[in-house]
Amino acid sequence: MKRVPDNKFSFLGTEERIRKLINSLRVGVLLQGPETEILFSNNAALSILGLTEDELYGRTLFHPEWNVVHEDGSPFSPSRHPVSTAIKTKKPVSNVVLGVLRTATKDRVWLLVNAEPFLDNKGEVKEVICSFSDITEQKAVEAKMMWLYQSLEKRAMELATSNAELERFITVATHDLQEPLRLVSSFTQLLKIKYAKQLDKQANEYINYAVEGAARMKKLILDLLQYSKFNGNKEGFDATDMNKVLKDATEHFSKDLRDTGAKLIVTPLPTIDANTSLMTQLFENLIGNALKYRNGNSPVIKIKYKEEKDHFLFSVSDNGIGIAPKYWEKIFLLFQRLHSDNGSGEGTGVGLAICKKIVGLHRGAIWVESEEGKGSTFYFTIAKDQNQVYEKV
Ligand code: ADP
Repeated sequence: MKRVPDNKFSFLGTEERIRKLINSLRVGVLLQGPETEILFSNNAALSILGLTEDELYGRTLFHPEWNVVHEDGSPFSPSRHPVSTAIKTKKPVSNVVLGVLRTATKDRVWLLVNAEPFLDNKGEVKEVICSFSDITEQKAVEAKMMWLYQSLEKRAMELATSNAELERFITVATHDLQEPLRLVSSFTQLLKIKYAKQLDKQANEYINYAVEGAARMKKLILDLLQYSKFNGNKEGFDATDMNKVLKDATEHFSKDLRDTGAKLIVTPLPTIDANTSLMTQLFENLIGNALKYRNGNSPVIKIKYKEEKDHFLFSVSDNGIGIAPKYWEKIFLLFQRLHSDNGSGEGTGVGLAICKKIVGLHRGAIWVESEEGKGSTFYFTIAKDQNQVYEKV
């Protein structure tokens, strides 16, 4: 360190010089005797503690007005005060947090305290320098942050519990519904087969409605059951060749692709860290929708991807009926449907909700951009690093 030349403050006496220096500090400084009595204070200490020199000098740590407390609010025994400890152990004590009451304003000031003992020739403590900074504001910010963090954690726990409960409810409800539904479905079909000739046209029509209703309910239950299976477990993640995934997904639709004269335009896709069967399901749902919601022309489905810094961005676009902007977010919710499909069996509004869950499980997002009557493009991202977890702050 560069030494300040002695003559720099030569217009001041040594003691006055030191006093000026100590008073210019923003840290509170107290000089205390062997009984902890205060012998000297700088200006910062007076202003932090809210006392005058007359009020402060001679006070010891045992003065009842200090009302010294630990961070948790419990009383601070004077014998464990950093100054007492420095006197007892003859060693410096650092970074002790304590709260004292400011007499005039009756508010609590939080201090970060250090104590340094000065020993005489015989090795006895002559004086202690106690220095401290006011950390009241910092403590208030910390307390606010802690409160925010705890309420966030509580909210996350509540959400996780209610999600888990909802999923359990869906699974139980759907399982329990299957048996009575199977009865309704098989008996209405029996009714149709056995008594069709004996009943009039209107009765047959009613039976048909009942059969169709039961079939639709079965589909809804099966889709709901499938939705509830995605419970957020990150299992089966591996290097996944998306070209192979796409091939498997399109095989599922080979007949529909042929029948509709659909054209599939695909650029070579990457290998990514993902769950292969979930990726297949994702492409199946999106390609299935591109075929279902066609607009009368032969479907043209384009599948592309782009590599970004920390994720892959995939897109599946079609030339179908399109979606009005006000529904771009809604369609990803469970059971949200806008149009009936083109006769390939009624949808249930579960497919895109499943896509959203799959993408979420891969630390990604899914969204749509579309022009009514012209077509839609579904975008989804998949994070490159599937192992990253968010650290607690
Ligand atoms: P489902 O197809 O069983 O109804 P989805 O969750 O897959 O359920 O889709 C929700 C709704 O979003 C559909 O009912 C449809 O109105 C709309 N939609 C989905 N994909 C497309 C698409 N490619 N083009 C136009 N509309 C679509």
